[in-house]
Amino acid sequence: MIKYDVIVIGAGPAGYVAAIRCAQLGLKTACVDDWLNDKQQSALGGTCLNVGCIPSKALLESSEKYADTKTGLEKHGIGVDNTTLNLATMMARKNKIVSELNQGVAGLFKSCGVTSISGRGFLKNKNTVEVSDGKNNSNKLNINAKNIILAPGSKPAEISIAPVNNKTIVDSAGALSFNEVPKRLAIIGAGVIGLELGSVWHRLGAEVVILEAMEEFLPMADNQISREALRTLKKQGLNIKLGAKVLSAKESDELVSVAFETNKGKQTETFDKLIVAVGRKPNSANLFNQDSGLKINAQGFIDVDEHCYTGQENIYAIGDAVRGPMLAHKGMEEGVMAAEIIAGQSGRVNYETIPSVIYTHPEIAWAGKTEQQLKTAGIEYKSGSFPFLASGRAKAAGETGGLVKVLADAKTDRVLGVHMIGARCSELIGQAVIAMEFGASSEDLAMTMFAHPTLSEAFHEAALAVDNRAIHMPNSKK
Ligand code: FAD
Ligand code: NAD
Repeated sequence: MIKYDVIVIGAGPAGYVAAIRCAQLGLKTACVDDWLNDKQQSALGGTCLNVGCIPSKALLESSEKYADTKTGLEKHGIGVDNTTLNLATMMARKNKIVSELNQGVAGLFKSCGVTSISGRGFLKNKNTVEVSDGKNNSNKLNINAKNIILAPGSKPAEISIAPVNNKTIVDSAGALSFNEVPKRLAIIGAGVIGLELGSVWHRLGAEVVILEAMEEFLPMADNQISREALRTLKKQGLNIKLGAKVLSAKESDELVSVAFETNKGKQTETFDKLIVAVGRKPNSANLFNQDSGLKINAQGFIDVDEHCYTGQENIYAIGDAVRGPMLAHKGMEEGVMAAEIIAGQSGRVNYETIPSVIYTHPEIAWAGKTEQQLKTAGIEYKSGSFPFLASGRAKAAGETGGLVKVLADAKTDRVLGVHMIGARCSELIGQAVIAMEFGASSEDLAMTMFAHPTLSEAFHEAALAVDNRAIHMPNSKK
């Protein structure tokens, strides 16, 4: 007998949002998730809530406050003697935030009627999920549904030259729980995790060396923004080595010795800790029967179309386990889309306007096309940018680093991309996404009134600069 309308496997941001939206739409929904916390209790929210977005942002906020109190307040005329760091308290605060939000998701499930099942789900056939306790594969229970949404998420990628031992060599989860500040910290990978967690530990006092294999820094961002970010982060003291090939990482005497090669030759350096942050892999193994008809590509992503439909009747897959950027908000919107399609509505995700944010200080944020993408695609565009140095509010806040850049189609003036580096850009980028979602032109933005004095005015001025009419800076003759 079919018991549920929908079973969701995975309660990360993609899965729990899908389950809530299904329940809101009147579908009888169960969500199976195998995440357990240190106390071996179910902890809903997946990677994002337990060892990702939330705990990393808690530590980014705390470490920024610490660094500001130590040195950043002097320019405001505020002297603080004897700033101390209690790392245990900082970690306890982070853990409390995570646990409150775990309970928050459980509460949301309860209030909208989602049945939460703790255990590991395996899709036996198109209507049956077998749930085991996840540890010894025992206590199996079969549950049935008309529709299935797979949201198993992802896990850190591993490299054989630096195997994680959870002591000296850790992945991103381990790097959120150090019980003391490492004196010397190495990170493999100058991607989003490397830069965010590198910033946390550097602010708390670690000497940080980041080893990045590629010669190019943040290739997914607009080149101008990447250059500005590299200059700023290096100036802050992050030792970012590009084109660095890691040869080996070995533990010795509770330290880790890392051999790597750059254009200056081979070197071996000793660190207290090494974080491996070289990307993430989809959790698509041991999830469904081989004869299910579901396909996995060479990188392990479950094949889906633009509606997250797998091509197999009534089976959808969403979040980090499918193509596209591995971002919580992308997975959440896919969860809403899958639920609405199952309920007979016309769900949609606009993959053209997914915002990306790197929560360093200053923050790096963008949406839409970069200049290099527009050039490669042969699209003619106009560009306008505005530096925070010329913003009254940025000056008042002592946050004059960075800029906002607006790219608009040369013929139609439609905004094609917005790129920023500066304070609070994680919030400012939302304005750009709304504009792009509504198909705004740079003229539309130019004609919009922004409150003064705000950081948002930099976005307004960048849109004005597209047509050479910024007010608070001299315009370049075009
Ligand atoms: P997940 O969050 O990975 O959740 C999947 C869930 O399914 C997990 O609970 C897993 O245990 C469970 N599961 C898997 N297989 C099964 C099974 N067979 N049966 C039962 N349960 C199963 N993204 C952002 O957008 N912003 C950020 O600031 C950000 N910061 C991050 C910081 C760090 C350190 C990391 C590691 C990631 C960060 N991310 C961030 C990425 C974000 O965490 C992921 O994109 C997001 O969690 C993906 O959501 P998901 O639901 O697809 O998968
Ligand atoms: P990433 O893909 O952002 O960066 C990995 C980096 O490691 C790349 O620059 C890559 O060139 C480098 N690399 C790979 N192998 C290497 C090697 N052997 N030696 C040296 N360098 C090597 O991946 P990540 O930083 O691990 O993050 C994983 C995912 O989590 C990303 O997709 C990201 O979207 C997501 N995430 C998002 C946020 C956010 O939205 N703020 C924060 C953290 C993580």
